[in-house]
Amino acid sequence: MFVILFDIDGTLVDNDRAGRLAMGAALAAQFDVPEPESITTAGRTDRGIAEGLFAEHQIPHTEENWQRFHDAYMAELSAALPRRKGRVLPGIASLVAALQQRDDITLGLLTGNVRGGAQRKLEFYGLGQYFPFGGFGDQHLTRDLVAAEALAAAQRHLNRDLDPQQVWVIGDTPRDISCARSIGAKVLAVATGLYDEEELAAESPDILTADLADPAPLWNVLQR
Ligand SMILES: [Mg+2]
Repeated sequence: MFVILFDIDGTLVDNDRAGRLAMGAALAAQFDVPEPESITTAGRTDRGIAEGLFAEHQIPHTEENWQRFHDAYMAELSAALPRRKGRVLPGIASLVAALQQRDDITLGLLTGNVRGGAQRKLEFYGLGQYFPFGGFGDQHLTRDLVAAEALAAAQRHLNRDLDPQQVWVIGDTPRDISCARSIGAKVLAVATGLYDEEELAAESPDILTADLADPAPLWNVLQR
C-alpha cells in the first residue's frame, strides 16, 4: 500500500503565472492598493502568501479580510487560467492515470493552494478526477502543517493508520522536501518548477529527477 501526495504548481502543472496574477488583481481590487510587481509563491501556502501581502500593505489579517481576498482570488483565477499559456508538465498525464489504475496506490494532494484554487487549476488542466483528498493552504501558514493535514486526510480516506514510510510526497521545492520529512514521508523532488536539480539535491530527497517524462525511478520504489 502506497499513498502518493502531489504538489500542484511546478509539479503537476505550470499555470504560467495565472495564480500570481490573479492574487495580485484580487488584492488590488479588494483593498485599493497597487498590484504587487512580484509575489513569491513557490512552496508557500496561499494563506501564508496572503499574510505577507497583507503585512506589506498594512491590511489587517482578519478572517473577514482573508475571506474577501479568497473569494476575489477565486473569481480572478477562473478568469486568468484560460488567458495564460499554462500546461500539464511532461509525463504527468500518463503517470497519474497509470498510478490510479493500481489498487494498492492512493493519490492525494499536498499543496499550498486553497482548496478552491486546487480544484480550479486541476479541473482546468484535465486532472480533476485523480485526487479525492488532500492537505490545502486555506488555513495553514506553513507547509509542514499542510503535510500533517494531508496525512490525516489520507488516513481518514483509507480509514486506517498509515506508516509514514508508505507515503510519498512529490514536489518541486525545498519546502516540499522538508514538509515531507516533517511527517516522516519519503519524497521525490522534480526540477520542473523554480528550483534546479542542484538546489533540490541539497535537501537530500529520496529520488531526484529532472522531470517525470521518465517515471521509472518512481515505479521502481512502488513495487508490490
Ligand atoms: Mg510547487
